Amino acid sequence: IEGLDCRYGKVQAVRGLSIEVAKGELVALIGANGAGKSTTLKAISGILFTERGNVTKGTITLDGTPIQGTRAFDVTKLGIAQVFEGRRVFESLSCEENLMAGAHLQGDMTTVRQGIERVFQYFPRIRERRGQLAGYLSGGEQQMLVIGRALMSSPKVVLLDEPSLGLAPLGAQQIFDIVRELNQRHHLTVFLVEQNAYHALKLAHRGYVMVNGAITMSGGGRELLERPEVRAAYLEGGRH
Ligand code: ATP
Repeated sequence: IEGLDCRYGKVQAVRGLSIEVAKGELVALIGANGAGKSTTLKAISGILFTERGNVTKGTITLDGTPIQGTRAFDVTKLGIAQVFEGRRVFESLSCEENLMAGAHLQGDMTTVRQGIERVFQYFPRIRERRGQLAGYLSGGEQQMLVIGRALMSSPKVVLLDEPSLGLAPLGAQQIFDIVRELNQRHHLTVFLVEQNAYHALKLAHRGYVMVNGAITMSGGGRELLERPEVRAAYLEGGRH
């Protein structure tokens, strides 16, 4: 992403944002409420316009190809899947049906079945609850399900919006462990947006700090964790 500006009418939510995520990397974008993190993800995945938002400047490229302005379902076809904030499962569908809903790009049922089996291997808890309605899952299980649903499109890059939000500490830790495993063992490229700076930076190869729509700091994940400014603003006296 280079020099990105995003607006909702008169509100400028993102200004001059430049971020790079290399193949196989896990990169975190941290910042407080309203910093512009979700807007950045929506700009990448092509859904900003559904909220009357616009990219007004800058470029977003995937493997060298410009993608800004590309329709959301075409962005998915290019290999980018977004997991939205707030664990948006289809509550009245079973876990398995939720996974099938994520397989709309797949052309045949054999591929869909293989995809579901792969998700079950990543998340044994979802296998155990495959026939259960998603609305009755715990928060952590729902988060696993929406990550699994995103994986059904066999993405190259996954955009994760606040996967730990609203989860108890143990549930959040489980989700971060899963994200690490998907990146390290399964070589998935991950762009992780989080308010939980401690966990996100501990996990990430590199991180960016966003304040009022702009990047104010960037560096190695652990290196950022050690910086006094980051500690003062996002760690000490906060959630950690
Ligand atoms: P949070 O962690 O609370 O989701 P965030 O960092 O993801 O915060 P954004 O949701 O990207 O922040 O919001 C950035 C700015 O854009 C905020 O000032 C917000 O009020 C504004 N904004 C977000 N969505 C809209 C919208 N649909 N219409 C108008 N303004 C919006």
